[in-house]
Amino acid sequence: MEVIELTKALISCQSVTPKNDGVLDLLEKELSNIGFDCKRYLFSDSNTPDVDNLYAKIGNGAPHICFGGHTDVVPVGDLNAWSCDPFNATEKDGKVYGRGASDMKSAIAAFVCAVKDYINNNELKGTISLLITNDEEGPAINGTKKVLEEIYNNGEKIDSCIVGEPTCPSKLGEMVKIGRRGSFTAKISITGKQGHVAYPQWTLNPIDSLTKILNNIISLELDKGTEEFPPSNVEIVKINSSDGASNVVPQSAEGTFNIRYNIKHSKESLIKTIDTIISEQVKNTNYVSNVEYNNSAEPFLTNMGNFTEIIKSSSDEITGLSAELTTTGGTSDARFFKDYCEVAEFGLIGETAHQIDEHVKLQDIENLKEIYLLVLKKYFS
Ligand SMILES: [Zn+2]
Repeated sequence: MEVIELTKALISCQSVTPKNDGVLDLLEKELSNIGFDCKRYLFSDSNTPDVDNLYAKIGNGAPHICFGGHTDVVPVGDLNAWSCDPFNATEKDGKVYGRGASDMKSAIAAFVCAVKDYINNNELKGTISLLITNDEEGPAINGTKKVLEEIYNNGEKIDSCIVGEPTCPSKLGEMVKIGRRGSFTAKISITGKQGHVAYPQWTLNPIDSLTKILNNIISLELDKGTEEFPPSNVEIVKINSSDGASNVVPQSAEGTFNIRYNIKHSKESLIKTIDTIISEQVKNTNYVSNVEYNNSAEPFLTNMGNFTEIIKSSSDEITGLSAELTTTGGTSDARFFKDYCEVAEFGLIGETAHQIDEHVKLQDIENLKEIYLLVLKKYFS
């Protein structure tokens, strides 16, 4: 299939996480036709759905470049708000509409077609692989992380990875992502003493203590950023208390916040900072504090060098822009690849990802294919 045809075929599978609706079968068939050796990995874990994954490779030995991606998509949301069927890949005004058009079925199609061109016209001296999960938008427990563990246990070695997530804010070729911030969430619970608001002397209001703690946390200046990263940032995302009545001091209160942090911090250093603020606030009081931490991604930075230069120069040559090397945005499966190989992200425009009427320009898909093809030519030259 050609790149637009393959994009549309992928979009027409209703692969809302964790359901794959034949999308991996379709991709496996397409890759097998090119000559790839395909393996499927079905993983299970407690309290999370089973997930199907595909690892396909062609060629032998080093250098080994892997394309990381996901075929799962987020739910469509309000179906009536769509101007077309989200799973029918509608073409309109030079664009293709459908769930996954931007994030990230078109990029998978672009890479597959780029490899097909490359293989047909060049002798491959090394390895090209695709690691495609159907669990990126969901819990990401049975996806990329486990496939990497499994293939490395079987002696695989990847040198470089390009993750095809939508990377550019408004024009193809504006950005190459060479790192990502870490994501750290903490939920603080403070227990006081419940009672009548008219008799505060017999109560201990946990919200007083919690808000002071949260205020100290959002007042933190964690750092001033680095050359590659913006300053680390805290956002409070939720505050709850145990009783909604307006004449009751609640027994307990909870506050949750998320920190997007750069390489000046680690999970350990953040825990230490938060613990110190909490213990300063509750010491010598009758408040009881508890805190749960979840560090879902560590920050990483791929050193600027040959690989990032190949991606940037390929993009610049095709688009005529000068791509900025950045670390902005949310987390992606690059957080798992970074433990095994150098990794950078380059894909389409993310503006309509996860939105109603998600779409990308057909020309951008064609251009992305040309960029990936140029990356392969430079990588193996
Ligand atoms: Zn994505």
